[in-house]
Amino acid sequence: MTNHLSNRINSLPISQTLAMAAKARELKEQGIDIISLSLGEPDFNTPDFIKNAAIQAINENYNSYTPVNGYGELREAICSKFKRDNNISYTPNQIVVSTGAKQSIANVAMVLLNPGDEVILPAPYWVSYSAITILAEAKYIEIPSTIETDFKITPEQLEAAITPKTKMIFFNSPNNPSGTVYTEEEFRALAKVLEKHPNIYILSDEIYEHINYGVPNFSFAAIESMYDRTITVNGVAKAFAMTGWRVGYIGAPEWIAKACTKMQGQITSGTNCIAQRATITALDAPVSKIQYMVDEFKTRRDLILGLLNNIKGIKTNVPQGAFYVFPDISYYFGKTIQGKTINNSSDFSMLLLEKANVATVSGDAFGAPNCVRISYAASQDNLKEAVKRIANVLA
Ligand code: GLU
Repeated sequence: MTNHLSNRINSLPISQTLAMAAKARELKEQGIDIISLSLGEPDFNTPDFIKNAAIQAINENYNSYTPVNGYGELREAICSKFKRDNNISYTPNQIVVSTGAKQSIANVAMVLLNPGDEVILPAPYWVSYSAITILAEAKYIEIPSTIETDFKITPEQLEAAITPKTKMIFFNSPNNPSGTVYTEEEFRALAKVLEKHPNIYILSDEIYEHINYGVPNFSFAAIESMYDRTITVNGVAKAFAMTGWRVGYIGAPEWIAKACTKMQGQITSGTNCIAQRATITALDAPVSKIQYMVDEFKTRRDLILGLLNNIKGIKTNVPQGAFYVFPDISYYFGKTIQGKTINNSSDFSMLLLEKANVATVSGDAFGAPNCVRISYAASQDNLKEAVKRIANVLA
């Protein structure tokens, strides 16, 4: 059949995180006992105090269209949160609430990038950064990193990747998929390079900020010289176990916030009214209210690292944040296991799915072809069983 779809959609890769999650769901529905460690999604319920705020909002008849950039009260709450957690001063007209951090990122890319612009992606990077860059008809330039350097890029690498066409850099700490958290000193060293290039914007995705096991959080926009060209992206999905509520937001220079509001006004309008009311309650609460989830994630991280490190050929670092491990599995390339030859990380991930019934996401999708992403946002029993199955197959 003739393909009548636009070049835009034809050139867009499918989201590998969502595709793997869908595949795992499909196999489960067929009755196969799949353990899904593919999707980055807390397995906790949204805390009751947030759910109650949503119920109250329904009863108080919050049902009308919302302001495109979000309720004023929510934007105030976001400003207080930025001040409290990130030491960044924003005013409500610098905030835009969106239907998830993913939409926030897409808004920013659409309003800042022109065809032919270059966007720097420190690898590994979340799958949708490259896809959204493609949608904006810009070109992404990867900066590679390896497990040996804890997947961190250096100021020298950053400097070398910059060209006159560079318009933006995506920065993500704690990182999905590697769990890497940059220190303040490392942030400042990268900022020193960017200071020499005043036309480059920084999209700082801080969605995992609270899922951090010890390295103090730091934000690009907290560096004075970066404030005017940083877009800070965040949301409630990961920290508050609110993935399905779809609330993300940015803090940005006002002209960028205004442009994002204009973009969103033509595409989705304001975010869901009930979810916005619940988000006010979530953000106003002390961070200590969600510490039990972070503590549990840390226990699971230690558990899965301990188990994986007993398997020959799996190399891990110690992720300091988020809820992923991103082992280097290149030892298995060229080997044949249960009749399947492993040539790359996709083959490895498919082997785990088909022979161990464990769903993961191949590192290719994140710009790191030697690795595979395992989400440990799953119960300890499931993690133990999953690693046991993986070990059996690889043995
Ligand atoms: N961000 C999560 C992940 O990486 C959710 C899926 C997605 O939106 O990519 O698994």
